[in-house]
Amino acid sequence: MQQYYVDYTVNSKTVVFNKEQQHHLCRVLRVKENDQVYVVDESNTKYLVSLHLEDTVYGEILESVPLQSELPVRTYIAQGLIKGDRWDYFIQKSVEFGASDIIPLQMKRNVVKVEKDNEKKLQRWSKIALEAAEQSKRDIRPQVHPVMNLKELVQLPCDLKLIAYEKETDSVELSTLLKGEYSSVLLVVGPEGGFDPQEVEYLVENGFKCVGLGRRILRAESASLYFLSALSYEKELKG
Ligand code: SAM
Repeated sequence: MQQYYVDYTVNSKTVVFNKEQQHHLCRVLRVKENDQVYVVDESNTKYLVSLHLEDTVYGEILESVPLQSELPVRTYIAQGLIKGDRWDYFIQKSVEFGASDIIPLQMKRNVVKVEKDNEKKLQRWSKIALEAAEQSKRDIRPQVHPVMNLKELVQLPCDLKLIAYEKETDSVELSTLLKGEYSSVLLVVGPEGGFDPQEVEYLVENGFKCVGLGRRILRAESASLYFLSALSYEKELKG
């Protein structure tokens, strides 16, 4: 069933679609009276909606429905900025693999520099995330945050805070940590040039744990996917 995200919190029985969505409903899908779609609002609540055709198409809320396509834990991926279309690929795939929050990170070895208040880039990244959410039928709309630095990142109130670190360190077994009890997890991944040791030290001092992601060196944009797959296996597939 088709799903639409609306940019407001539904607080009545009626759902209003934007111009693009109306065009898609009427001209592309050619919906008929009482056809049904899902709608997810700004508060990430999902509704079953019946469509009504007058001069425009609008929706009538039938009921709210449980979220079916989300990981059972809120999953933040903080990624040192990556060059070019590999950054777009990272956003798209992290959404497909279940991330709820994507945090572009200023790090010492970043090749790419993006100012924190770069509205234009944030809008483009958010559009990539929204399209990936629609394609993968995510129940919620994953959020791309404005660029953060490590000082801001360590303030995030996550239960489990991990550093994807490939160097031999006293890293804790990822599988052991994923088995634990937590309602939110944050993974930090370095850019192409990796972490500066002082960054790892700072994160460890702020409660982060180093974890390995297998025996091979992964590209930055692959690391979060390895982690999200392991998390999905642990939380969704293993039973
Ligand atoms: N140090 C890497 C090298 O020797 O080529 C460069 C960094 S790697 C391309 C980008 C990031 O992916 C790393 O900073 C780390 O966060 C993550 N990463 C890659 N392979 C990993 C592994 N086997 N275990 C944990 N993290 C890994």
